[in-house]
Amino acid sequence: MISKKLAKAINDQINAEMWSAYLYLSMAQDIYAKGFKGIANWFKVQFQEEQAHAEIMINYLHSQNEKVILAPIAKVQTSWKTVLAAFEDTLKHEKKVTALINNLCDIADEDHDRAAGNFLAWFIDEQVEEEENALDLITQCKMIGDNLNGMIMLDKELATRVFNTPSPLVKE
Ligand code: MG
Repeated sequence: MISKKLAKAINDQINAEMWSAYLYLSMAQDIYAKGFKGIANWFKVQFQEEQAHAEIMINYLHSQNEKVILAPIAKVQTSWKTVLAAFEDTLKHEKKVTALINNLCDIADEDHDRAAGNFLAWFIDEQVEEEENALDLITQCKMIGDNLNGMIMLDKELATRVFNTPSPLVKE
């Protein structure tokens, strides 16, 4: 069974994931207001993914017979200067999340909790993907620069992103 310390840390991470969801939903609103509906869609999918991350953690605490305590979600930024600035904040934020997940792994290691270690491994892989995606979008935005046609093409591309239920939530 899970230690109280790790259960509390995962409970805190549920709040962090919900905050992430709220942050991306806020970015989606600002980008939508700027006229880039496709890029806003990318952020909306990001919002859905973060909610799913929280749900995966909730399910894990349930499996460990722990009650989840939901805390208030802190306010988020509501406007960004440019699309690039939003992607840069995305990368900065995901790096912070990676550090939080690493910390959870450290606690699982201290506890010699192999089940938690296995559980958290999925999030470690997910963070590699999150950081890579954000970095790719920053690179693309920098290549596009002030070229509006380039931004319109990126907007079309990101309009196609769809939310896929993450594997830990897919019922067998
Ligand atoms: Mg997440």
